[in-house]
Amino acid sequence: MLGGGQLGRYFVMAAHELGYRVWVLDPDEASPAGRIADRHIVAGFDDPAATAELAAGCVAVSTEFENVPAATMHSLAERTVVYPSAAAVAIAQDRIAEKSFLLDSGIPVGPVAFVRTTEDLDGLADDLFPAVLKTATLGYDGKGQRTVAGRREAEEAFVELGSVPCVVEKLLPLDLELSVVLARSVHGEVACFATAENRHRDGILDVTITPARIPYDLDVLARATATRVAEALDYVGVLAVEMFVVDDRILVNEMAPRPHNSGHVTLDSTVTSQFEQQVRALCRLPLGSSRAHSAAVMVNLLGDLWPAGEQPPWPAVTGEPDLKLHLYGKLEPRPGRKMGHMTLLGGDVESVLEAALRARSAIGIREDP
Ligand code: ADP
Ligand code: MG
Repeated sequence: MLGGGQLGRYFVMAAHELGYRVWVLDPDEASPAGRIADRHIVAGFDDPAATAELAAGCVAVSTEFENVPAATMHSLAERTVVYPSAAAVAIAQDRIAEKSFLLDSGIPVGPVAFVRTTEDLDGLADDLFPAVLKTATLGYDGKGQRTVAGRREAEEAFVELGSVPCVVEKLLPLDLELSVVLARSVHGEVACFATAENRHRDGILDVTITPARIPYDLDVLARATATRVAEALDYVGVLAVEMFVVDDRILVNEMAPRPHNSGHVTLDSTVTSQFEQQVRALCRLPLGSSRAHSAAVMVNLLGDLWPAGEQPPWPAVTGEPDLKLHLYGKLEPRPGRKMGHMTLLGGDVESVLEAALRARSAIGIREDP
């Protein structure tokens, strides 16, 4: 596994349940996945010696970290099995490549333009504004993004973001944000998890509600759209497709070539979790059932909740009967850092959401989601 964060940690756990051994590559000695792996190679993602060791020791390699250098992916693929492919990861790593790919594949996206130089900004259509300027690479959790009213503000923001290649997206009036996490096997079999409804705060996922409270037709369209993305990429592994709902239309926002924060509900609500599907796809097993046996609402727990040198008030939530608390074993809480999550389970999504919002407030999250 390339990457040792919480996504890698759950991958290691799922692989262990199926009897596999896992090596993790991550430069951080204390990485959540590295600490429970059979072997933790503490090195950078571009370290040729570490890459060679992985290739020699591992039957199959996957990634939980989007920004693995393309060269590493290619060099591993020459020597061992790598899913998802280097090409798919490269597309998801770069918003310009990603949006171009979606446009070329005829998959609906919002109005967008690509900007590589300040001059490119002059050519933008007036009706693209107000807009969101996003760096093409290395952005996550709302980082590397600026909302701009017009062209002049866009110029300032472009320079502020480092004058690097960017996409400029029209700021859309979002009715809802959805994600579909799916697994696709080497044989082309696709299994979509329940469509998730996502609420963000400060650019970071805050609450995920499953199943999404949307009309059946829209749900079918969301899953069909995500499946088209996976098929167009000839994808193998777990893929997350983030979408916007605007006026009953589905527009693809972005994709992640890995399990996704919104898919964490599947750990507790679904026959086969997104991490087990990742293991199954990578190891060429049949996919498991993606059937949810409960409605589930997840609340992210960010480092902001940790008072200096102390812990959040766990007793306020650990007594809840239908609440599963997950902590990733990260040693250092920092604002915005994903430290854990809690999932509320039940039969009816509206009451599960109510219980989740009560738990969210009991643990000390004040603002409305
Ligand atoms: P990240 O890689 O940080 O997740 P996203 O492109 O998903 O980047 O943007 C983060 C969030 O910002 C989205 O989930 C959405 O809430 C908001 N956002 C992004 N693009 C737009 C847009 N074009 N219009 C309106 N809101 C947007
Ligand atoms: Mg996103």
